Amino acid sequence: MIAPDLETAIDELQDLVERARVIAPFTGAGISTECGIPDFRSPGGLWTKNRPIPFDEFLAGQEMRDEAWRRRFAMDAPFSAAQPGRGHLALASFYRAGKAPAVITQNIDNLHQSSGISTEHVIELHGNNSYALCLGCGKRYELSWVRREFTAASERAPDCECGGHIKTATISFGQQMPEREMRRAEQLTLDCDLFLAVGSSLVVWPAAGFPQLAKRNGARLVIINREATEFDEIADLVIRQDIGTVLSPFVVH
Ligand code: NAD
Repeated sequence: MIAPDLETAIDELQDLVERARVIAPFTGAGISTECGIPDFRSPGGLWTKNRPIPFDEFLAGQEMRDEAWRRRFAMDAPFSAAQPGRGHLALASFYRAGKAPAVITQNIDNLHQSSGISTEHVIELHGNNSYALCLGCGKRYELSWVRREFTAASERAPDCECGGHIKTATISFGQQMPEREMRRAEQLTLDCDLFLAVGSSLVVWPAAGFPQLAKRNGARLVIINREATEFDEIADLVIRQDIGTVLSPFVVH
């Protein structure tokens, strides 16, 4: 069912949330747009400005690595100023109430952690861009260190002391998905009786497979997204409204 208006949407959602035993929230870039971080596919989104750099291209050339870091540092201001939005706070309320054991996210912006969900309960399918890792030995690097080296070397991306390339701790197109996170996301999807897909165009695979898995396993599926998605047909409730507006009644301070 597509909710005909905001009031019905909130009422229906309230009912599903109350009846749920285990909620699996699954979030995408749309939950963070009200926090000043553009999504990929909306008009003016990052996709329309810069084609993402696939993993093989990052590995293949210094120039691409320099460009990847240039783009990351150009996004410094919005990422570091961002505070959790109403959607994040509502999901954190479900978490505190013991209804959502964890959050599955495609986002890399660290805002679920900032909303009060403990790091171990944020299942990041695409990593995190608030720090960096060496692709060779796995050593962690803080962005402030990378920035200093990058600037001192006239915008050349630094390598690790082991010789490996240093990359934000994100999963690029073509890069292997993190096994542990995929397993944990699958488990929560199978455990839940209410799956909430919030702010995702549901086109990036394999992440987009989780709503379908939940539904096939007998959970209710709710999709909250301004635009239509491929999975609207199988959802129990589709809410095509602004995320913050829909979820703000669920925020418990
Ligand atoms: P997407 O850009 O493909 O889809 C976002 C969806 O959210 C769009 O369909 C858009 O219509 C909707 N949306 C945006 N603002 C909304 C609002 N206020 N209310 C309701 N709907 C709204 O994002 P995706 O599905 O997450 O996939 C893109 C990939 O890009 C992800 O894998 C993610 O790793 C990465 N990404 C992350 C961030 C972030 O961390 N904040 C930002 C951009 C891209």
